[in-house]
Amino acid sequence: MRMILTGLPGAGKGTQAHLLAQFLELPHISTGDLFRQHIADRTELGQTAKTYINSGELVPSDITVAMVRDRLGANDVASGFILDGFPRTVDQAMALDELLSDTLGPLDAVLDFTVSEQTVLNRMLARGRADDTDDVIRTRLRIYNEENEPLLHHYSSILCSIDAEGEVEDVHTRVVRALGERLSPSRPGTN
Ligand code: AMP
Repeated sequence: MRMILTGLPGAGKGTQAHLLAQFLELPHISTGDLFRQHIADRTELGQTAKTYINSGELVPSDITVAMVRDRLGANDVASGFILDGFPRTVDQAMALDELLSDTLGPLDAVLDFTVSEQTVLNRMLARGRADDTDDVIRTRLRIYNEENEPLLHHYSSILCSIDAEGEVEDVHTRVVRALGERLSPSRPGTN
């Protein structure tokens, strides 16, 4: 199963992707985590990405797409993957679609985590990551609000909206239920 997770920064995508990856035994691929690993390893890519991440801007798509292409070339994605935080723009989505049509096959689902801005502000300030400061959070929310609607429109035929308010376990239950419905919709007269 190939899927992507979208939602406001702080919506809990990373936590839910982690749980779902365990549940489905699929790799969890987070572009934010990949960038943070590059920064920790002091690679050239990490040095470039850092300036964007620390200001809350998106890392340029050519860099991001090349990193994802590289990751999706690994053997462990053969039976599927959970992409978290990528794509974030229609440009990136089109690059991903092209990459997948040449290699692994199309996406099965896009999970969009819906949550209020107040909830994500509370969660991010509690999390306290280096890019979770007031100004940077504002920039990230602004960019998300500009980019996400066209992205969801691009994926409207495979979109599942998930209510991401509340407890982690409850949200996970909603995710599993939504995926079950999406992948085996009950057809009239078949049960
Ligand atoms: P995240 O961990 O998903 O919140 O991502 C942290 C930061 O990494 C973002 O604020 C961006 O600067 C960068 N980043 C992560 N994913 C992408 C992406 N798909 N495109 C561009 N920049 C990204």
